Amino acid sequence: MKIHEYQAKELFQKYHIPVPRGDIAKTVEKARSVAEWLGTDTLVVKAQVHAGGRGQAGGVKIVHSADEVADISRDLLGKSLITHQTGGGGKKIKTLLVEEGIQIRKEFYVSMITDRSAGKNILMVSTEGGMDIEKVAQESPEKIHIEPIHPATGLLPFQKRRLVAALKLSRQEGDMAGRIFENLIRLYTELDASLVEINPLVLTDESFLIALDAKINFDENALYRHPELEIYKDTSDLEEGEQMAEEAGLSYIPLTGNVGCMVNGAGLAMATMDIIKYYGGSPANFLDIGGGASAETVAKGFQIIVSDPGVKAILINIFGGIVRCDRVARGIIEALNTVDVHIPVVVRLKGTNAEEAATLLRESPLSFIVADTLADAAQKVVQAAQERGGKA
Ligand code: GDP
Ligand code: MN
Repeated sequence: MKIHEYQAKELFQKYHIPVPRGDIAKTVEKARSVAEWLGTDTLVVKAQVHAGGRGQAGGVKIVHSADEVADISRDLLGKSLITHQTGGGGKKIKTLLVEEGIQIRKEFYVSMITDRSAGKNILMVSTEGGMDIEKVAQESPEKIHIEPIHPATGLLPFQKRRLVAALKLSRQEGDMAGRIFENLIRLYTELDASLVEINPLVLTDESFLIALDAKINFDENALYRHPELEIYKDTSDLEEGEQMAEEAGLSYIPLTGNVGCMVNGAGLAMATMDIIKYYGGSPANFLDIGGGASAETVAKGFQIIVSDPGVKAILINIFGGIVRCDRVARGIIEALNTVDVHIPVVVRLKGTNAEEAATLLRESPLSFIVADTLADAAQKVVQAAQERGGKA
C-alpha cells in the first residue's frame, strides 16, 4: 500500500524524524490560509499523488507569498500530474501540501527496503540526494552505501559510523543523522513497511537535518496488524479495474498488452502470461481470481478485464482441482449473462470433469473458443486478439 507524502510525514513526526512545518489543502482558500499561518518568506506547494518525480513534472513549486501559493494551487488542484512514474494518463491532484521553504545546503538520499535477493532489510544512503536515485545506481553505484539491518540488533554502532562517513557529515551532524537512521529503522520494522525513503534528506543552512520528502510503502500482507494505518488508504487514484479488484479482494495488475487473462492461482497466472508472450502476444493484465472460481468471482473478473479498453480478447485458464470444471463452466456461462463482453473469449479448463465442462461450453449459445492445451489456448487467443486489430 502506498501512502501520500503528507501522511508519511505525519508518521515521521510520530517517530521523531524532523519534517518541515506545513499542512494540507484541498481548496485554494485553505492553501492561502496555510501559507498565511506559516508566514515564511519562502513557501513550497507540493502535489499529493501516489508517484515520485513530481519535482521535474511541475508538481513541486517554490514561491514567496500567500498570493502566489493561491495562484499555484488554483493551477494544480484538479489537474492531472504526469511524471515518469504515473503513466500517460497521470494522476489527478486533489490534495496539496503547503510547507515552509527550507534553505538547502546539501541533499542526501536515505532509504530502507527489503532486499529480496539478499533476504535482508537494508539501509541505503547516498550523497547524491534529490535527483533520480535509479540513475545514480546505474551510473555511479559506488556513490550508494548499503548496510544490512538485522531485525534483532538494529543499527550497530560501527554501521552508524560507516553511514555517517559515507555522507561526509561532521560529528554533530552525524549524531543527528544517526538518530534519524534509528528512528527510520524503528518505523520500518514496527509498521511492517516494505519501503521508507527520504529523498532528499537535507542539511539546512543552520546545520539541521530535515526530511524534505517522505515516501512509505506498506506490506499489504501485514496490514491486518495495523488497523491504525487503514485511514491512510486512498484508492481513488487507481484505475477503475484496480479499484474493483481491490474491493473484491482479487490480485490484479494492469499491463499494456491486449490479451486479458483470467486465471486461478498466481503461478498459473504467471505461466499463462509467459506462454502468451511465447506465442507472440502480449498480456493485458495479471489476474488471479483465486481457488473458488465461482460465478460471482468470474463475473467480477470479466468486469475488471473489460474495464481496460486495450483488451481485444480474453483467455480464461482455470485448473479445476478442488473446484470441478463443470461448475466453473456453468459459472462462466452464468457470468456472461450478467456482464456484457463483446470480444472473443477463449476457455481452457483442465482437471476434474474437464470433458463435461468443454461440452457445456461448446453447447452454450455463447460463442466460446474452447481450447484443450495451454499452448492451443495461447495460440487461439493471440490470434483472436490480432484479428481484432490490437497491438501484438
Ligand atoms: P519528488 O520530485 O516527487 O521526489 O518531490 P520532492 O519532495 O523530492 O521535491 C523535489 C525537489 O524540490 C527537492 O529535491 C528539492 O530540491 C526541491 N524542494 C522541495 N522542497 C523544498 C524547499 O523547502 N526548499 C527548497 N529550496 N527546495 C525544495
Ligand atoms: Mn523526492
